[in-house]
Amino acid sequence: MANNLHRLAVSGGLDDPLTARAFPAPPHPSRTPFQRDRERIVQARAFRRLAGKTQVFTSRASDHFRSRLTHTMEVAQIARAVAAELGLNEDLAETLALVHDIGHPPFGHAGERALDQCLRRHGRSFDHNLHALRIVDHFEQRYAAHRGLNLTLGVREGIIKHSRDYKEEEHPELVEFFLDQQPPLEAQLIDLADEIAYLTADLDDGVESGLLEIGHIVEHVEVFARCYSRVRKEHAGVEEKYLFYESLQLMQNVLTDDLIASIMQNARAIGAESLKDIRRHPARLALFSPEVEAERLQEKRYLYQTLYTCPPLEREHDKAEEVVTALFEHWINDPEELPPSHFEEVEREGLARVVADYIAGMTDSFILLQYAEIKRAVRR
Ligand code: MG
Repeated sequence: MANNLHRLAVSGGLDDPLTARAFPAPPHPSRTPFQRDRERIVQARAFRRLAGKTQVFTSRASDHFRSRLTHTMEVAQIARAVAAELGLNEDLAETLALVHDIGHPPFGHAGERALDQCLRRHGRSFDHNLHALRIVDHFEQRYAAHRGLNLTLGVREGIIKHSRDYKEEEHPELVEFFLDQQPPLEAQLIDLADEIAYLTADLDDGVESGLLEIGHIVEHVEVFARCYSRVRKEHAGVEEKYLFYESLQLMQNVLTDDLIASIMQNARAIGAESLKDIRRHPARLALFSPEVEAERLQEKRYLYQTLYTCPPLEREHDKAEEVVTALFEHWINDPEELPPSHFEEVEREGLARVVADYIAGMTDSFILLQYAEIKRAVRR
């Protein structure tokens, strides 16, 4: 089956316009442009900070919960496997997976929501894809000749377009990313690889936390129940936790295989012959089959209702909102308290954006330290 869609892949060679960089760099003798981007991302400070950022669980009740870094690595291995099986550009898919969550603030989605609400009071908004682009283009400073990581156009386009579409009228600054076209399949599949990773991992961490029960999942999540019943037949008499782990592994394979088959079928159905056909098609082709998509939505609803909004996690979300909002207001009211390296940026971007950028970069532990410090200062 491998290499079936090779003709639809991003070539990634030196003559591919998607390997262009803002600051031309001489070709490397042994590494491809996307491999070099992968290394630039893995060595970025923002990438290392993912280790200290929440995926779902903010509390450190277990060292086994996913962080945003381990989640990212899971997405990368799924994305690479899907790309390899389809004959797409594996290096591009892996690189996009490694960078896909780099723009996330501390405290997971609660932190993102809080930061967005703060910015909206100043007529701005927070979007983690746009923030990710600012990180790689601007905030990372590792090169003498330029700011940013000087990534290829293909990776920068994928950062913006992997999970949503932006309109040129609303985002004229993104015009270089062909907003009227679909992204390549390597970028399209990242969002689905992300889904596969968290649909599996959040059940795992949910049970680890004691907030989800295996029997309850079997009753309410069809895709898991299908896998569980197969595993139980194969491993009769095995302890329940091993049935659970085996079922999760099978579920990840079921979802991944469905995605691979469905992308292949969709590409065939439109008679796609080249990357141009993918780009010009009115809709994305990286989708689950309709049956698995229905199961995905069912599980997602289940996770929202049963896990993400359960009282213990909602308490953590409230705390996250309190911390983010208090610090945002603190620096808005007292910009002199910001690290001096940010002063220059305030003139260019405005205070609200700079405060949000500063907060967005923080790990969970660093933002809690900052919060404790302003609380102490108020008491003094
Ligand atoms: Mg993700």
